[in-house]
Parts: sequence; structure tokens; C-alpha cells
Amino acid sequence: MRDLVEAWYVEGASAESDAAELVERLAGWLDPVQRLTVERLFAGWRAMFPPGAAVKVDLEPEAGSVFDHDRRVELRVSPTVGFTNPDGSIERVRLRTGRSATGPDDAAVLHTADPDVIHVDAMVSVGVAEEIPPPDDVSTRIRQLLDLATRNRDTALVPGLWCFGCDSAARCGHYPITAAGGRVYVSTRSITVSKTHLGHLDVCHRRVAWDRVHQLPTDIDGDVELRDGLAAGLRFHELAAAAILADDAPEVVDAASGEISPSEAAELRRMWDNHLRLWETDGRPRARRVEHPAGVTLLVPGVHVDSRGRESTQPVAVTFIGVLDVTGREPDGTPMVVEHRTGRSGEHAPLEAELYAVAAWTSIEASTGRPPDAVAVHLHHLGPEPPECHRQVFDRPRIESALEELRVAASTIAAWHPHDSLSPSWTAGPWCAGCRHRPLCETFR
Ligand code: SF4
Repeated sequence: MRDLVEAWYVEGASAESDAAELVERLAGWLDPVQRLTVERLFAGWRAMFPPGAAVKVDLEPEAGSVFDHDRRVELRVSPTVGFTNPDGSIERVRLRTGRSATGPDDAAVLHTADPDVIHVDAMVSVGVAEEIPPPDDVSTRIRQLLDLATRNRDTALVPGLWCFGCDSAARCGHYPITAAGGRVYVSTRSITVSKTHLGHLDVCHRRVAWDRVHQLPTDIDGDVELRDGLAAGLRFHELAAAAILADDAPEVVDAASGEISPSEAAELRRMWDNHLRLWETDGRPRARRVEHPAGVTLLVPGVHVDSRGRESTQPVAVTFIGVLDVTGREPDGTPMVVEHRTGRSGEHAPLEAELYAVAAWTSIEASTGRPPDAVAVHLHHLGPEPPECHRQVFDRPRIESALEELRVAASTIAAWHPHDSLSPSWTAGPWCAGCRHRPLCETFR
């Protein structure tokens, strides 16, 4: 996209035929799906910023930069294109091919560095240009960012949902490489896969590949209003994360219930009470962590394409990450993982329990230097009356067979060609209703 945008201005192109020729020349090597995607994004850019003789274009605009000279630190955010308007005002535009706008930290840097410039996000997938507003707490954010940049780098890692988008997930050590070994280098192709993607892999490879390997922008807006059941589930997970380890859990439940409608509060309390009932039935386990991201990295042979387009088979790092709702110990000391299920499904998704068990096992082995004898995975199904607990115990043989199943999944994922989004198979079915790639997928069946 950046190449296309640059060529569009450098070559003084303006007609639609020019755009088509540029796409052919610069993006003609892409597979048909990625090419169509790029064509659409480029059309989004042209609709927002048509060439205008009165506007001066800067293809190497100055980055927004904030220095702390004493601590020798620089915060830097780069725009894609700059425009100087006839009235002298300057716009610096950031090309955004995904759904997210510039976040408040980057916005704070841009506005601190260049308060007189108009900073703009070009959301090319929807053809909308939006001014990036300064956050309310610009100076606090800048101070925190500088402190963070100069912190002691020996401090512990802070895993979280951000791990799913982190290029270093396979290398940082929080998602350890399995006992089979191997080493992940910066140049190793790395793919991060969530528990949800593992479930999708069971029915449709294309859906997982387009999300995690080809990273195609999705056509369906993700900000749709949450269905009642889903919203209730999210509310319960938020409450559980705040209340399970709290000394004053009843107050936390009261506070959460006071912020929602009476019927929503009644449902939230019903699920919390069911959680407490299952906790009693399980013999009052000891909870240690909530919402804990854990997982494992497997190195498997896969497709590697170098910068000259040459293909080879090389180790690919596939990192599986699950967010464990609760971890702790059963009354007899067996390590346990609890998954809260608030919806209708009373079963684990494919490989879900296996991933949780392997994640907990690996995490214990990495932190204590010794593998546990067994790990218990509890599925707490809070929807029905009475609530149900489905417990599975993974000893070493079961962990090894779970790892083998994850290795098969990792090998499937690593074999998808990174430059050919039509290489993974697709399987249509009722699950397509919830798939955000549906419109594009239907075009290429
Ligand atoms: S729409 Fe259906 S077939 Fe297409 S990628 Fe999604 S789940 Fe697969």
C-alpha cells in the first residue's frame, strides 16, 4: 500500500487507468485475494486524498519525536504522507489498513512533537480520514512512556492480550518451546494462534489462515452490538477476574451489579452464585491467578519465503496462547485450570482442554524446573441449573498425546504458503454466519 501511495504521487498519476496500471505493476504478483484487497485499500486512499495541484505532497514527512535528553530516550511515531495546504496548514497522515485508529499513546507523542500540525488517520478499508485527537492526559502519558522506556529491562515480562499481536511471543520465553527443543531466531517465521483459532481450525482452515497468516482486513464490522448472551458472558468474565482473588468479593459483586440493569444484574448474580456452588463442589480449591495468558511454542517444518521470493522448508514457530480464566490448586494440591463457560455449549471446543493442560504444565515446569504429576482442567458450565463441572485430568501420557495433537495443528498452519491466501482449504457451513471473512471468501470460492 505504501509503495502504491508513493508511486501515485511521484508519478503524478490521477486517472483510474493510471491506478489500474500501478496496481498491475506493483501488486500484480500478489495472489488474487490479496491483490483485490490491496486494490480496495488503494481506492480508499484515492477517494480521501485525490491529487490536487494546490496541495504540496511530502512523501517523507517528519516523524513526531519527543526527546528526553537526560535519559537519552526518544519516543517516535511516523506518519506516511504529509500535505501542505494552500492556506499553509500542514496535515500528516498515517495509513491505517486495519480497523484500529491511532491509539492515545501515539497520539500523545504526535501532539507533543507537533502541536500545530493536523494529525490524521487514513482508514483506507472504509475510506474515512479522521483527525487524531489529543488525549486528555497528554503530559501524563508522555511521562509514563518515557519512564517505561527507561525502566530496568530486567523487570518481569507482563503478558496480556497484547501477546497475540506481538512478534516476539515465540522468543520472549513466556510461551516456552516444548521439550522437543529448537531455537527461535528473529528471522524465524512465527505465527501466534489463540484458543478460538484452534477451534476454527477444526472446521475451516481458510478462516484461521486469513486471520493469522495472511491478516486480511475483514469486511464485516467487529463493533456490532453484542448479543445479550455474549454481553452477559463478558460481564461475568470481568466480574470473575475482579472478584475471585478479592478479599471483599461480595462488595465487588454488588458494585458490578449496581452498574447494569436489574435483569442483567440478576443474571450476573445467578452466574456468580453458580460459580460459588461449583467452587464448593470442587472442595474449595485455592485460586492463584485469574485471566492468565499461558501457552506453548512448537517448532515445526513449514513454508519459508525469503526476500527474493525463494521458497524452502524451514522451522516455523507456532505459538498457541490460551487465557486461563482461573489457575490454582485442587484441595489435594493438583494444579488446576478453570474455564468458565457462560453460553449454551457445555463441551470444550476442539483441543481447548488440551491447550489449557499443556499451557499449565509447561508454565509450571518452566517456573519450578519440575513437571507436575498431573494437571486438572475444569470446565465450569455456569448457564444451566444446576451448574455443571466437567473435569479432565492430564497426566504425562495424556500431556504427550495433547502435545502431539497440537503439533499436528501447528504443522497444518506452518504449511500454508504466506504469499498464497488461496492455498488453505475452505469449508462452508453454519459456522460461516459468524465469520468476518464471509464476503471476501464468497467471492473466491
Ligand atoms: S466464510 Fe465460511 S468458508 Fe469462508 S472462511 Fe469463513 S468459515 Fe471458512
